[in-house]
Amino acid sequence: MDCDKCGADAVMHAAYSGLHLCADHLCRSVEERARHRIREDALLPDDATPEDPETWLVGLSGGKDSVVLTQILHDTFARDPRVELVALTIHEGIEGYRDASLEACLELTDELDIRHEVVTYAEEFDLEMDDVAEDDPENMAPCAYCGVFRRSLLSQYADEYDADKLLTGHNLDDEAQTALMNFFEGDIEQMAKHFDASLGAFEGGGETPARVRTDGPFVPRAKPLRDVPEKEVALYAQLQDLPAHITECPHASEAYRGEIQQLLFDMEENHPGTRHSILAGYEELAALAAQRYRGDDGPSVGECDRCGAATTRDVCRACALVEAVHAAEG
Ligand code: SF4
Repeated sequence: MDCDKCGADAVMHAAYSGLHLCADHLCRSVEERARHRIREDALLPDDATPEDPETWLVGLSGGKDSVVLTQILHDTFARDPRVELVALTIHEGIEGYRDASLEACLELTDELDIRHEVVTYAEEFDLEMDDVAEDDPENMAPCAYCGVFRRSLLSQYADEYDADKLLTGHNLDDEAQTALMNFFEGDIEQMAKHFDASLGAFEGGGETPARVRTDGPFVPRAKPLRDVPEKEVALYAQLQDLPAHITECPHASEAYRGEIQQLLFDMEENHPGTRHSILAGYEELAALAAQRYRGDDGPSVGECDRCGAATTRDVCRACALVEAVHAAEG
């Protein structure tokens, strides 16, 4: 098949748009969608200046999504003094997995000359995911602990580095899966959090509302790749020869997410565009949920008694899980 844009050999067919694209046009299309999302979400405020630049903390795991995001952000903003990028890699303590992906992070940030910080569960929480997965004091999947610990550290270091935004590499498939999981679980509060964290409130009420929430105790989050399907992110990484690490974590165990992933795959095969429409509808629902949970009915946000992080509980989830893990160790 030929590329619909230039007639060169196509490397992919996007059934949801009907387009066949060559390597060059696929890469351009991925970059354009990420940049469009950055503009659409108004990530770079008008008042950012070279004297008072925005600091964007990028969660860099070394997997294809975060590597592609970091590369595109660098290509877009390397010559723009209004944005400073800081990459943060979190080492969970998973033997044979994170060491290899850390290599990819070092190679990329070295090549792009981006400030790179590494934090570890061992230093921060005095634990390693390999041990947590084995002991499992709360009888839940390893990813349930790991996700809480990771989010906690991303927020903590976004604060510590005085970051204006926290950016992650979630792609369209990730986001559509999360949307369906929250919906199937009837978890309205989680929908509200998802909106507040990743899309933000419509501030100001103008015709072109800022889509990133700027009030509240949390550093605003953004996901510039959320319009790009996972397959295209992977192809981009391969075509650009980026140092992405592709081995799967040995503790990857989210069986429910796996079921949703398969369901979405089948739906997308039979009804191209399903992921896009799920996400569009979900954003509307999540915005309504966020209004409800930010109103009088919503939980009030205070500080964790242990670490001082913003939380709706006395002790934040991360501190509670760390205590459970240490208690189980005796
Ligand atoms: Fe952590 Fe699960 Fe990701 Fe492994 S797959 S790094 S355990 S969240």
